[in-house]
Amino acid sequence: MSDIEKVIIIGSGPAGYTAALYAARADMSPLVFEGSQAGGQLMITTDVENYPGFPDGIMGPELMDRFRKQAERFGARLIPTDVTEVDFSSRPFVVRAGSDEYRAQTVIVATGASAKWLGVPGEQRLTGRGVSACATCDGFFFRDKELIVVGGGDSAMEEALFLTKFASKVTIVHRRDEFRASAIMAKRALEHPKIDVIWNAIVTEILGEDEVTGVRLQDTVTGETREMSVDGVFVAIGHKPNTEIFEGQLELDDKGYVVLRGPGTQTSVDGVFAAGDVADPVYRQAVTAAGTGCAAAIDANHALD
Ligand code: NAP
Repeated sequence: MSDIEKVIIIGSGPAGYTAALYAARADMSPLVFEGSQAGGQLMITTDVENYPGFPDGIMGPELMDRFRKQAERFGARLIPTDVTEVDFSSRPFVVRAGSDEYRAQTVIVATGASAKWLGVPGEQRLTGRGVSACATCDGFFFRDKELIVVGGGDSAMEEALFLTKFASKVTIVHRRDEFRASAIMAKRALEHPKIDVIWNAIVTEILGEDEVTGVRLQDTVTGETREMSVDGVFVAIGHKPNTEIFEGQLELDDKGYVVLRGPGTQTSVDGVFAAGDVADPVYRQAVTAAGTGCAAAIDANHALD
């Protein structure tokens, strides 16, 4: 059995690494479970243009590498492992990664969020064969192909714009007649010569045997359906919080987000704090995640007093 840690941080996006940086500088010697895919959602992003301090933008993976190095510089201990189970029912809290068990006086939950899928026939079967939720990862395979991007938020705009580097044509399929995306991103997409929009439509099926050949679309106003030939489908319809391992341990809202108590980062369990997208259904920005990561480290440090 390991010693009792002052703080265990679960997660390694902007929230987790910022919590690690602040906790390390507060002499808490944080143990950080980065997970098997360290760095969080910015690892599958291209240019980050809205993180303050980078007037020319910075690539998502490079930004996360800088976060990581800064946390390590002050003594954060990073483990590239997924946490599989937690027990917050008594103190010290227990965090398990497979058969390894760790104990801590405080825990910071910063497990972020993951892409949502449509849940329509063909989607799962054709994932990796023309269906993707990551243009940065898979866009390269679609040179001179015709693609659709499903969604109307900033992610959909970003994916569509990125895919124009490869695709001959990108069609955004959105279920309403106006985008949810920020004005600047929507304008860029709407003005791009390679991007078209189909308004008021949902994808009800993804077609193809071994690879995507098309989609079935349904008009959300008239109910009419039609088939459209495409070579790839990029799903960009938002995210869900990564809170499966906290079910029954922390209070979660009806969408699965960690519920915070009061103005700080305190969860329903004293001594357990949450930061970043896992507890944020509203802002979900890298900079707000970093901000709450800092707050969680300060809150955890106070809880040790
Ligand atoms: P989002 O803002 O929640 O948008 C999700 C979009 O998908 C909405 O347009 C929604 O339609 C649509 N949608 C949801 N479920 C659907 C379904 N089952 N079928 C069809 N369409 C569906 O998510 P996001 O775009 O991932 O953005 C999340 C957050 O990250 C936002 O705060 C965003 O500003 C931020 N972000 C920022 C940047 C940037 O600034 N560069 C880039 C990416 C993300 P409705 O509009 O009808 O609800």
